[in-house]
Amino acid sequence: MYGKFQQYLQTELDSITEAGLFKGERIINSPQEAEITLTTGQKVLNFCMNNYLGLSNNQELIDAAKNALDTRGFGMSSVRFICGTQDLHKELEKKVAEFFGTEDTILYAAAFDANGGVFEPLFSEEDAIISDSLNHASIIDGVRLCKAQRYRYENADMASLEEQLIKAQDQRFRIIVTDGVFSMDGNTAPMDEINKLAKKYDALIMVDECHSAGVVGKTGRGVTEQFNIRGEVDIITGTLGKAFGGAIGGFTTGKKEIIEMLRQRSRPYLFSNSIPPMVANAGIKMFDMMSQTTALQDKLHANTDYFVKKMINAGFDIKPTKSAICAVMLYDAKLSQDFATKLLAEGIYVIGFYYPVVAKGQARIRVQLSAAHETKHLDHAITAFTKIGKELGVLK
Ligand SMILES: *Cc1c(COP(=O)(O)O)cnc(C)c1O
Repeated sequence: MYGKFQQYLQTELDSITEAGLFKGERIINSPQEAEITLTTGQKVLNFCMNNYLGLSNNQELIDAAKNALDTRGFGMSSVRFICGTQDLHKELEKKVAEFFGTEDTILYAAAFDANGGVFEPLFSEEDAIISDSLNHASIIDGVRLCKAQRYRYENADMASLEEQLIKAQDQRFRIIVTDGVFSMDGNTAPMDEINKLAKKYDALIMVDECHSAGVVGKTGRGVTEQFNIRGEVDIITGTLGKAFGGAIGGFTTGKKEIIEMLRQRSRPYLFSNSIPPMVANAGIKMFDMMSQTTALQDKLHANTDYFVKKMINAGFDIKPTKSAICAVMLYDAKLSQDFATKLLAEGIYVIGFYYPVVAKGQARIRVQLSAAHETKHLDHAITAFTKIGKELGVLK
């Protein structure tokens, strides 16, 4: 059998390559931080990591992880409800809830699982899920696993959301679902307006804070802080794999009955392993750090402002951003790839995105800022962008 199947796969892989969509992987042999080393020996500045607060190689988190390795062992070998819950898991859940101003939290192996396991236990045929068109793949998959009626509104478009809410009025329960920050444009969901519409049309709200938690809002509490609706959102999902240390792990936090129901019925929670003690302990340490100072958020916000301002002054077309994601618009797919290749030669590691990851004719380079970046790193990037921009005729 495999012969025929292999042939089929090879043809598919070839067509992916021919379409220019083959995803190669660059191999890093240093820790994840501002300056990384590739296996080619090249040292580059990393502007495409989700390491927004620079915690991926933070010594205090490493120490907390080591400490848990010594005192609580390596792994749990169990799902949570059998024998996979340590005091550390409960403590981390409490810290997440404190951070977001919610009632309770449930941990998952990843945010992909949190989103995959949140809808099916809570909603059925009689209910409506009203989802932003640019929501993350894990939300789309989670919605697919649920029998609720599906409604879709245009990205962050409140007229479109209202239309869908009107259509869904006959359903038993309605939930509006949105990413906090959209990862390609760096825009935020207008949570204040979403909240108003939710009240007007009697809907619940769920927000995925993966790209916004730790980043957005004055103290990094995410979009509910930015839009001053802390405590008003019913469900928040998020990851420990981006700003919060970058290791692994996801969570759903919100109203206590919702979290309790997820503990009873959410399949990725019931049938998948517990996060390792070292990750839980590093997470606890991380939230303690977050509650003591906003130094990292302050630095990240300053870095983002600095970079965006200088890039606009240099003449680049930058999408208005409300996060640490800065989309440098180039519009042409090939140009975005050539630009990124040339930047790598200048020691700047970024990725060019084009259709189907973004809309046709909307190719861009996505720059992700971090508190790990120093001004000299930002200046190096701006200089390289300007040089290549002139070389490729993007700048005059
Ligand atoms: C990264 C991301 C996820 C997945 O997070 P993991 O913890 O890596 O599974 C889910 N939703 C959004 C919006 C994301 O950006």
